[in-house]
Amino acid sequence: CGIFGIFGPDKDVARLTYYGLYALQHRGQESAGIATADGKNILLHKNMGLVPEVFDEARLDSLKGHAAIGHVRYSTTGSSLVTNAQPLVCYYQKGMIALAHNGNLTNVHQLRPKLMERGAVFQSSIDTEVIVNIIARHSNVPIEKAITRCMDEIEGAYSLVVLTGDKLIGVRDPHGVRPLCLGKLGGAYILASESCALDTIGAELVRDVEPGEVIVIDKNGIKSIHYGAAERKGLCVFEFIYFARPDSVIDGYMVNQVRREMGRQLAKEYRADVDLVISVPDSGNAAARGYAEESGLPFEEGLMKNRYIGRTFIQPTQELRDLAVHLKLNPIKNILKGKRILMIDDSIVRGTTCSRMVKMLRDTGVKEIHMCVSSPPILWPCYYGIDTSNRKELIAAKMSLDEIRQFIGADGLHYLSLEGLLKAFNTVPGKFCTACFDGDYPIPIPKPEEMGKFV
Ligand code: 5GP
Ligand code: SF4
Ligand code: MG
Repeated sequence: CGIFGIFGPDKDVARLTYYGLYALQHRGQESAGIATADGKNILLHKNMGLVPEVFDEARLDSLKGHAAIGHVRYSTTGSSLVTNAQPLVCYYQKGMIALAHNGNLTNVHQLRPKLMERGAVFQSSIDTEVIVNIIARHSNVPIEKAITRCMDEIEGAYSLVVLTGDKLIGVRDPHGVRPLCLGKLGGAYILASESCALDTIGAELVRDVEPGEVIVIDKNGIKSIHYGAAERKGLCVFEFIYFARPDSVIDGYMVNQVRREMGRQLAKEYRADVDLVISVPDSGNAAARGYAEESGLPFEEGLMKNRYIGRTFIQPTQELRDLAVHLKLNPIKNILKGKRILMIDDSIVRGTTCSRMVKMLRDTGVKEIHMCVSSPPILWPCYYGIDTSNRKELIAAKMSLDEIRQFIGADGLHYLSLEGLLKAFNTVPGKFCTACFDGDYPIPIPKPEEMGKFV
């Protein structure tokens, strides 16, 4: 998901949030929502669909206020329904509160039944509602304190933006799994999942919110509470492989540069005897360029992408995904015919995308196809907010390298090693979460018997 928040009494906060969400659209295309605070009330509009489908001029005009938060959703827990769209807005003892969340709680299976035993009711199936409930239970203390108390109870990955009548609050979990940054536009402060949202509205990046940090913004300015940062950090490495936009900077790393470096590392590890390097656009572009630079092989745009369709992966059913891949990419025949090709993509999850690409290339008359992946095999599911699905859908968890190669129909297959991946950041293990590759989860994961259970 993508989250955005702005505190700017002299700004059109709803429109700036709209543009911010537009820039974060790649983080979720299922639903979008904006909540604004006008000093007394919190106004909300949310619906299923893309940002420009959910909002029009009249809607944005009606969302008045001095501060706003917004959300774009891609579901990892809870179904794709409007009741699960965010921000969530509720009344509690102190007035109204709105909250938007990126990430996944790992102990929701314990928290939710406990809250229900004490009479709580839930309108959605998302873990975010648990957070709102716990905050509301601490209404006897100031909101920032209620939030840190909530942080004592919840575990997992969470970047949050919270809006009350007079405050905008940003929170990043103690492991810093999901990104969140702070920006400034004149006198207004902004919180956003990625810095590309700041660029879009002309704001400057001040810094990233730190793991375990709570940032409180109100008319008196900005205040920071450092609360319980974990020693072992867990910034999601997948943000850099696939999820984040290449023009964003996260915790000091330029996404595009890291991706390119992943391609360079790939070339250092594996050199195929081919004529051309191509990428599966757009997610493989930066790595393919890096590979070409390092290897000296020519890079060509061999596959054309229809830019008017969203990310196929995020369509919630397999049937829709199958359909959408065909709409999405078309080979450029004169570039590819008769050639030996190295094709680069950022990741293989189920293996559907690259098997289709290989078939497409074969049909085009490509002579040899070597598939290269700029990340290691995904062997473990993610519990922290990326939909790498449950383990039985992960092709690398059930097949050997050669079986995968045969399955996708390529002449060669090579994945970047985990060491190579970390070299791309010029860092050592312990700073990033790499659990989907090595099973080393920085935050305890739910027990299998808790999983599938609807709570
Ligand atoms: P597959 O087709 O192997 O199941 O998925 C891999 C492709 O899906 C890659 O091209 C990758 O860019 C894309 N993709 C889109 N969304 C996601 C996501 O949330 N996680 C992963 N791992 N890949 C995704
Ligand atoms: Fe990211 Fe993988 Fe860790 Fe999930 S398990 S947070 S996708 S690195
Ligand atoms: Mg892709």
